[in-house]
Amino acid sequence: MKIIMLGAPGAGKGTQAKMIAEKYSVPHVSTGDIFRANIKNGTELGKQAKEYMDKGLLVPDELTVKILLDRVAQEDCKNGYVLDGFPRTIPQAEVLDKALTELGEKVDYAIDVDVPDENIVNRMGGRRACLKCGATYHVVYNAPKTEGVCDVCGEKLVLREDDKPETVQKRLTVYHDQTQPLIEYYDKKGILKEVDGTVDMNDVFAAICSILG
Ligand code: ADP
Ligand code: ADP
Ligand code: ZN
Repeated sequence: MKIIMLGAPGAGKGTQAKMIAEKYSVPHVSTGDIFRANIKNGTELGKQAKEYMDKGLLVPDELTVKILLDRVAQEDCKNGYVLDGFPRTIPQAEVLDKALTELGEKVDYAIDVDVPDENIVNRMGGRRACLKCGATYHVVYNAPKTEGVCDVCGEKLVLREDDKPETVQKRLTVYHDQTQPLIEYYDKKGILKEVDGTVDMNDVFAAICSILG
């Protein structure tokens, strides 16, 4: 099963992708997590990606597409995966489709987690991230057991540089310009599913499970 998560930054794609990955035993593949791991490890890719990420801009397709195709070519992805944060542009979607078509495969579902912009700034301000294992928390809606510490791996949690309000606004503009057109792209392919992302995260997950069966 190959699933794509669509939605604005902060809509809850990562939160839902992790739950889907666990229930359906497929890897959760997040391009944002891959970039952040590279930044943490000081790689050349990390240095290049950071320039764009800190400004709230998309990392160029040339850098992004290759790491994603390499990742999904790995052994653990052979029975499917849930993509979180990729594709984010029409050209990225086209490259993915082409690569899958060559393998005789396809994306099964594109799930759009719908949350209006008004709710997003609030969510991002409260988001706390673990840069070690990729877990995400919210100070109110999904607090860790110990304040500031990752439940999963014990790492100190951080407010991401790009989750500060000025950058969130920029990311929303970029989302509407470059990523939102993917909703129509997947609708035309007949695989788009919309869920209301404003409700409790367990209710969002229940809606997704009823789609995936
Ligand atoms: P969020 O989960 O809040 O939407 P992500 O972790 O998915 O954020 O992405 C963080 C940043 O990483 C993005 O703002 C962008 O700069 C970069 N990024 C992640 N995925 C992509 C992608 N597919 N194409 C271009 N840039 C990306
Ligand atoms: P995305 O991957 O789309 O950027 P996240 O999954 O990281 O979004 O969620 C953004 C923030 O909102 C996180 O702090 C997360 O804990 C919180 N969150 C996710 N889903 C919900 C929800 N349904 N209700 C309230 N807060 C949520
Ligand atoms: Zn962690």
